[in-house]
Amino acid sequence: MNWENNVRRVVPYTPGEQPKIMDVVKLNTNENPYPPAPNVQKILDDFSTDEMRLYPDPTAQILIDALAERYHVKPSQVFVGVGSDDVISMAFMTFFNSDKPVLFPDVTYSFYDVWAEVYRIPYQTIPLTEDFRINPDDYNRENGGIIFPNPNAPTGVLESLETIEKILQANPDSVVIVDEAYIDFGGESCLSLLEKYENLLVVQTFSKSRSMAGMRIGFAIGSEKMIKYLNDVKFSVNSYTMNRITLVCGAEAVRDEAYFQETTQKIISTREATKQKLSELGFVFPDSKSNFIFASHPEHDAGMIFEELKKRRIFVRYWNKPRISQHLRITIGTDEEMNKFFTALQEIIK
Ligand code: PMP
Repeated sequence: MNWENNVRRVVPYTPGEQPKIMDVVKLNTNENPYPPAPNVQKILDDFSTDEMRLYPDPTAQILIDALAERYHVKPSQVFVGVGSDDVISMAFMTFFNSDKPVLFPDVTYSFYDVWAEVYRIPYQTIPLTEDFRINPDDYNRENGGIIFPNPNAPTGVLESLETIEKILQANPDSVVIVDEAYIDFGGESCLSLLEKYENLLVVQTFSKSRSMAGMRIGFAIGSEKMIKYLNDVKFSVNSYTMNRITLVCGAEAVRDEAYFQETTQKIISTREATKQKLSELGFVFPDSKSNFIFASHPEHDAGMIFEELKKRRIFVRYWNKPRISQHLRITIGTDEEMNKFFTALQEIIK
């Protein structure tokens, strides 16, 4: 009965709740409240089940080409996966193979330590400053790789290209992954640094700014060398990660730049109005350049507000973890959803 001795044991990542009940205000997993680009629906309408008999293109060329065109890079600099979770997981496996620790912030995307654990990668967390900022000098130490989101999650704080470049300059011997899941809500992407740094990998997703969390599309852009290494690992795990319908829907979504600009701008303006209202109610929060706000209230317990909102069918995200147990992460929904949220919030903290 010793078979369990050989089990790879891990404490898994806990995704945000996907409530089974209808009629909820869902502000807990940073989804986009608007539908994907209109032409994506046309693709679905025209899709024939006959196509399902055949394997998808293992190179995902149609999607890679659309992304290469949109981001002005060569197709050989683009890698795609089943959401950026898949892309980052592959990147951990491919690039973090040192005995030295991989570095990431203490308050950050809570999947990084899970991947490090599951792949047996040593890691060290670097505390953010008091106001949740990255101090680039803290990354000036021996390491086996570096990863951080920009803007960071769950804080929403955006770091400048200057900060990122400082980290890159100090770490020519490490792969540096910048997870730009939330970059399209007012941040400046560090894609421009790719010309100078062969060891930089920029990861983005269709789940937030392109409203396609349910389709599962993520991508990485980096040097041709890095993308080749990623593909070698991917093709050693699963050749067919991207299914046929996802590939065509994803490519179509990337081509509609006007819709992308319109919807991201709507979210940005709702976010700015939300900041104003939260401040008026006495909440404090670091300035967010993402599609969520990480807020706390000096007089009201975050866990209590979370539970009370849930009773009213309003879902936000809460972690009972060191440094952040008095914060709520509130995704920006439509103006109407935010109004419902504020009506409930006022009732709870009155
Ligand atoms: N990175 C960060 C910082 C995130 O918050 C998320 C969303 N949970 C992801 C990556 C993964 O998103 P997806 O797999 O949907 O692309």
